[in-house]
Amino acid sequence: MAVETLTFGCRLNTVESEVMRGHAEAGLAQAGLADRDLVIVNTCTVTAEAGRQARKAIRRLARERPGAEIVVTGCGAQVETADYAAMPEVARLVGNDAKGRAETWDAKAWDEKTWTIEGAPSSRARVDDIMAVREAAPTRIAGIAGHTRAFVPVQNGCDHRCTFCVIPFGRGNSRSVAVSDVIDQIAHIVERGGREVVLTGVDLTAYGRDLPAPSSLGRLVRAILARVPGLGRLRLSSIDSIEADDALMEAIADEKRLMPHFHLSLQAGDDLILKRMKRRHARADAIRFCEAVRALRPHAVFGADLIAGFPTETEAQFARSLDLVAACGLTHLHVFPYSARPGTPAARMPPVPGEIVRDRAARLRAAGASALEAHLAGEVGRPHRVLTERGGMGRTEGFTPVRLSPDQPAGVFRDVTIAGHDGRVLIAA
Ligand code: SF4
Repeated sequence: MAVETLTFGCRLNTVESEVMRGHAEAGLAQAGLADRDLVIVNTCTVTAEAGRQARKAIRRLARERPGAEIVVTGCGAQVETADYAAMPEVARLVGNDAKGRAETWDAKAWDEKTWTIEGAPSSRARVDDIMAVREAAPTRIAGIAGHTRAFVPVQNGCDHRCTFCVIPFGRGNSRSVAVSDVIDQIAHIVERGGREVVLTGVDLTAYGRDLPAPSSLGRLVRAILARVPGLGRLRLSSIDSIEADDALMEAIADEKRLMPHFHLSLQAGDDLILKRMKRRHARADAIRFCEAVRALRPHAVFGADLIAGFPTETEAQFARSLDLVAACGLTHLHVFPYSARPGTPAARMPPVPGEIVRDRAARLRAAGASALEAHLAGEVGRPHRVLTERGGMGRTEGFTPVRLSPDQPAGVFRDVTIAGHDGRVLIAA
């Protein structure tokens, strides 16, 4: 019986679930327990809703598959350990560091080994002090089933302490995968037919600072494109624009295989709110970054994470988040209604009433939808090189989805002209 994974949250979790599935299947096979019904739930804790969804899924799993062994891991297991440990449906808890190690999934030793919860002996949990972790283990997977592009984790953890965020307490401090390991991983993917890779992490622009021979995200991008000539496209997952290094700006200027799509962790458009969030950039920095990139790559496409209803946010301050959409020329918004996370400084600040938070999130999403519509309309008639995916879809260099004819094989490049759009995706001629 194959090990099943249920993944919540970010791309890093998606990749880690694939790694865990491989380790767990090997561990069960070695222990002669291949018929064991094992489900790994890889949780997220970024919002209260993420935790609620995971617990709901765990209860449903236990009801529908009474024989299944449910192992809970991820940032929820790391940060809300006691809550998950209190759930009778949960057989085991595995912390964010232990989850990536093969020995954690050595089923033969599961009953023998003494595990620990925050240092205390426990028969069913191994959740170590994530702040003590210093290394980012390289992943070795050829890609993810059904995915045209492969996510390659190059960095983990975060040294910042934004006042609304619990991620550092789930992922630990920033640590980078060695440049040579990243290049090996990407060469491995290209040898197996991979066409596109997305560099992913928690605070991607912090890449390389902790390495014995310090590096940067820009220098990593350069090294990858120089050392893996067979790689068709390289993408970046979310970046903190104020931390974009000079080498990255140079790579944006002259590396055509670095895709002109940038998802920015902006969070708000008002400087006082950004200060209360303990962000490192001001509104003007975000606008300046987008202008600088557009000067280098005129057809660059920008997305952003924005929080609606951060504590103390006034209507006037919110209006500056709304008009940041146009000021930066954003087209793909990820809107987060503010969600108080236990133990964060923002959770102790005077909150904005829930209905106002929801209303502001809806208005931001509406602004995003009309910005996307304008972006799509602007693409009609333009030629595009598209990487095809399953289901007759593909993506432009700017990561905009394109509907193609349904008989297209996945994973090939196609030159198309855009004939129209349906408000959400482009339609090729
Ligand atoms: S940069 Fe801020 S928001 Fe991002 S993971 Fe770090 S603490 Fe959280």
